[in-house]
Amino acid sequence: MPVAGLRPGTPDQPADLVIRNAKVHTNDPGRPRATALAVRDGLISAVGDDADVVPLVGPDTRVVDALGRRAVPGLNDSHLHVIRGGLNYVLELRWDGVPTLRQALAMLRTQAERTPPGQWVRVVGGWSADQFAERRLPTLDELNAAAPDTPVFVLHLYQSALLNRAALRAAGFTRDTPDPVGGQIVRGHDGEPTGLLIAAPGALLLYSTLAKAPALDEADRAGSTRHFLRELNRFGLTSAIDAAGGFQSFPENYGTVMELARQGQLTLRIAYHLFPQTAGQELDDLTRWVSTVRPGDGDAWLRLNGAGENLTWAAADFENFTEPRPHLGGYETEFEKAVRLLMENGWGFRLHATYDETIRRDLAVFEKLAAEGLFPHGNRWLFDHAETVSPDSLDRIAALGGAVSVQNRLSFQGEAFVNRYGAPAAAEAPPLRAMLNRGLTVAAGTDATRVSSYNPWVALHWLVSGRAVSGRRLAAEHNRLSREQALELYTLGGARLTGEEDVKGRLTVGSYADLTILSADYFTVPEPDIPHIESVLTVVGGRIVHGTQEHQGLAPDLPAVTPSWSPVTRFGGYHATPAPGLAGSHQAERVAEAAAASEEQRAWREARGLALPGQGAAPLDPCFF
Ligand SMILES: [Zn+2]
Repeated sequence: MPVAGLRPGTPDQPADLVIRNAKVHTNDPGRPRATALAVRDGLISAVGDDADVVPLVGPDTRVVDALGRRAVPGLNDSHLHVIRGGLNYVLELRWDGVPTLRQALAMLRTQAERTPPGQWVRVVGGWSADQFAERRLPTLDELNAAAPDTPVFVLHLYQSALLNRAALRAAGFTRDTPDPVGGQIVRGHDGEPTGLLIAAPGALLLYSTLAKAPALDEADRAGSTRHFLRELNRFGLTSAIDAAGGFQSFPENYGTVMELARQGQLTLRIAYHLFPQTAGQELDDLTRWVSTVRPGDGDAWLRLNGAGENLTWAAADFENFTEPRPHLGGYETEFEKAVRLLMENGWGFRLHATYDETIRRDLAVFEKLAAEGLFPHGNRWLFDHAETVSPDSLDRIAALGGAVSVQNRLSFQGEAFVNRYGAPAAAEAPPLRAMLNRGLTVAAGTDATRVSSYNPWVALHWLVSGRAVSGRRLAAEHNRLSREQALELYTLGGARLTGEEDVKGRLTVGSYADLTILSADYFTVPEPDIPHIESVLTVVGGRIVHGTQEHQGLAPDLPAVTPSWSPVTRFGGYHATPAPGLAGSHQAERVAEAAAASEEQRAWREARGLALPGQGAAPLDPCFF
């Protein structure tokens, strides 16, 4: 049938994909709204309405009816440990989004029963005691009862890890094991380790314990990474900037993602950073890297973006807000050498810094190099986190052309932050409005997977509402962002950190065809519903990489998760829950509506002789005939 009286012709440049009947938010001030767009060769070839895209529909064009849903540019998490997350995804039981500790422990018990001997149950971040109705951590007794024989390791933020008795045995902790520097093995009256490990304030003890659990073989690492990227696509993510991290060595731990890129199997664009792993050897590593690889190496799917988020270990201020701020020693000499080396070799960097005390010291080093004409020397650079950065430091960052990448770590650690520093400090942590008022480039993200969850809608909710997962409002009124601003930080913000703002983060002609159609309208849903948004269709470079509900079956299936005992095969990733606060009848109504919508779409497709959901899409939407 014709649409608005128009029929497709035989265009010279037919679109590969057309999306119509959408409420498109483009991020483009020149054309903020549209209802249709066309894609050719991975790029957007038209933005407008049906009249603009119909002439581009040819016999092989796939046409997707968005059923009036909201479409936005693909999300870009500017600080995600995506490479490490991918290598471990299928090994981890995720408590992300689980509403009660009771449910979390039931999952743990089930997973312990289905985990083979020699393997561990690992819950590695992405959750907080604040999210549970019970508002507490599990006890060690509860872990031992849930898993009498299977080692269990539960990481809570950067604060602590809980090990059951079997894990203490497997990790080899005894009364004679000394506390490492910056870490505490808590002991009972008998001198034996209880199972509680504390970051005091460094998290190395926690991570080195986790590293004692078996890793995956290469085939499973590749599968794990592919499933993790699809899990991110589930929420509308199309890009991420990897912040490297502890136990992520270059080049060893980058091999899996590089091979997937070579095979064209990435479903998320990744810009990555290189992070020296060994204290005392940082300059050796950086010197080797600047002479062997270059920022920009790679392509639009996988590209080196510089050094960081650590340059030297001694300059890193761990953010355990239940402990006092760490007092760093004199790190400037080595740090200055590292920054000088990077600047002279055309390497930008990102730098982890939580507290203004650290940021001021870093800035003094940068200003010294700037006085020599060496900083930033045409290189992109940014601070990561910056929860307590002061107005004065923001002025200095702006003067040096720096950017800031912020994460919703206080969604998960807000209670601890308030307890230590007070509500007025939390109201400005981080000072988003002050950053934006100075014209700084600000990008948003999560710091997943070991601290925050990777769910971008939890982070967007925090930017908009200022609330932690506990429900407590942290941010001052002036420090909350509009939904448009928050989305801009989550799309264009990240693109600016990789120098891709001309092709990414906006839905304009010539941009990458990276976009998502949402399960609910981000701009109009009640604020408490924002964390429950998911994508129903995610497109990266014109390829459909995720489809659900009425778009079920449009994305190619991945090979099954291996190993078969993986928690992901039983529980998936982020826990899907109905929005809280909805009355039972309202909630039932929503479910019925959603079911009706997908039933309607199914019937509509069936009536037109199209493949059933799950059997792939029709190449051409018959609406155009
Ligand atoms: Zn960091």
